[in-house]
Amino acid sequence: CGIVGMVGKGVRIGNLVEGLEKLEYRGYDSAGIAFPDEQRVNVRKAVGKIGALKAQLKDIISVEITAGIAHTRWATHGAPSDANAHPHTDCTGKIAVVHNGIIENHLELREKLLRNGHEFHSETDTEVIAHLIEEHYEGDLPAAIRHTLIDLEGAYAIAVVHADNPDMIVAARKGSPLVVGVTETGGFLASDVTPLLKYLRDVYFIEDGDVVTLIPGNLEISRIDGSKASRPIIHIDWNE
Ligand code: GLU
Repeated sequence: CGIVGMVGKGVRIGNLVEGLEKLEYRGYDSAGIAFPDEQRVNVRKAVGKIGALKAQLKDIISVEITAGIAHTRWATHGAPSDANAHPHTDCTGKIAVVHNGIIENHLELREKLLRNGHEFHSETDTEVIAHLIEEHYEGDLPAAIRHTLIDLEGAYAIAVVHADNPDMIVAARKGSPLVVGVTETGGFLASDVTPLLKYLRDVYFIEDGDVVTLIPGNLEISRIDGSKASRPIIHIDWNE
């Protein structure tokens, strides 16, 4: 399973798919992508091989996007299916989330969200994250995600896009790997360095409890309490 995210100038849907292909060795049962599109997030996903997703994307594969997140899923909660494939969205259709890992307290969170009127479209533990971000969002996406992380128990690497912030990806980790890096006009993240090597060589390995805000040409790392953090630059000088 794996996560890829890209933001900035010249990013095309095909670049996300190519990134996922680099993570195929990790194993998966379905794949999907999401990107801000007008006032909503456009989500495409398919059970099975990345080829099935690619077939669905063939008309838009070279479309340029402002930001995009992508996922290969190894199902833990909810059978492998189109509905359970990531990304997952909130009720407004503006927020999309990809997640590797397990949210241990998802049932309790789901019940609370259902009581608050949220409607669910999958059986995954992941979908609560999208709805929680919706509840906490007041115009500041990194802040909404920090609030959401306080609610979550379990292990995760997540990446999130919001249609109202079309040039931004916010990512976080606890217990699952995440690597990020920027170029002059872009920002990139993935579960390991291999999808990034085509674009850059200087990376940051995100630590447990870190929240990363990625915009074109810049990244900011904070802790769940909002304090700033910095991580060493690691230069990768090997090729695949
Ligand atoms: N627990 C999530 C699910 O079953 C994520 C699985 C993964 O790591 O790919 O959808």
